[in-house]
Amino acid sequence: MSNASSTLWPAGPRRVLVVGIDGVRLDLLPELHTPHLDSVAAEGFLAPVEVDEVTPTMSGPCWATITTGVGVAKHGVLGNHLGGNRLDVFPEFTTRLAAVHRRRTFAAGGWEPLFLARSGGPLFAAPGRLSYIAPLEDTPEAWEVCDARVTAEAEYVLRDSDDDPQASFVYLGAVDETAHFLGCGEEYRRSVETADRHLGRLLAALKSRPDYAEEQWTVIVVTDHGHVDHGGHGGRTPVERTAWIAAAGPDISGPQPRPLHHTDVAAHVYRALDIAPDPHWTLDGQPFK
Ligand SMILES: [Zn+2]
Repeated sequence: MSNASSTLWPAGPRRVLVVGIDGVRLDLLPELHTPHLDSVAAEGFLAPVEVDEVTPTMSGPCWATITTGVGVAKHGVLGNHLGGNRLDVFPEFTTRLAAVHRRRTFAAGGWEPLFLARSGGPLFAAPGRLSYIAPLEDTPEAWEVCDARVTAEAEYVLRDSDDDPQASFVYLGAVDETAHFLGCGEEYRRSVETADRHLGRLLAALKSRPDYAEEQWTVIVVTDHGHVDHGGHGGRTPVERTAWIAAAGPDISGPQPRPLHHTDVAAHVYRALDIAPDPHWTLDGQPFK
């Protein structure tokens, strides 16, 4: 059985890491200690994203939009049950890059519909390497353990393994879980700061790669939706529909001149890898400036 190796398919020094942190309210970020997110924003930008009117402020549709680069009218994910989707026609970037471009890709996280054939999933159908790590209970504490294990796994894959993924997606879910159980109070704030420490570990893993100085890394950090004060989302209030994207990399030059959309994330992943999207993909997003 033959396999496409990096020797057969040299892809240059470009790499991209997308870190998805579920349910982080933009309005609370200025009050929180998030030095690693701040470093990405300082090098590039952090900008608000409004979840559009046809997209429920739910994780299923928002993560599908973020990772496919098309809206709900195309990918067909309308809730946290992903059934009835058209992800075979509009795959997320780790699957498309592996299948079409022979790129080495990686996806990791602990929320079942994204990674397992559960609840109409998976969203991540066929990345080059897939790490699903289950939270042992449906509690904020168990999700914190899950996120720490996902981060450790991603550090290993990004820094130490011979996978050398060129495009990766790492999902952190404890912040959203904490909001659902406890609202957007002190525990929620601490959870966002913990997620930022996980981001810091991932950024450090990239920087300690032996060839980091010769590589061109794009890092995108993104949330799917916000939360009401007592925890919960799905409606159209400003705190629910306001998400955000932070990114830094070789093609990114500071504050963005236009409003960004979730569909721009996947579009920029392709740009970051120097891949021109096929018009047949009908991406709805545009790369960042
Ligand atoms: Zn949620």
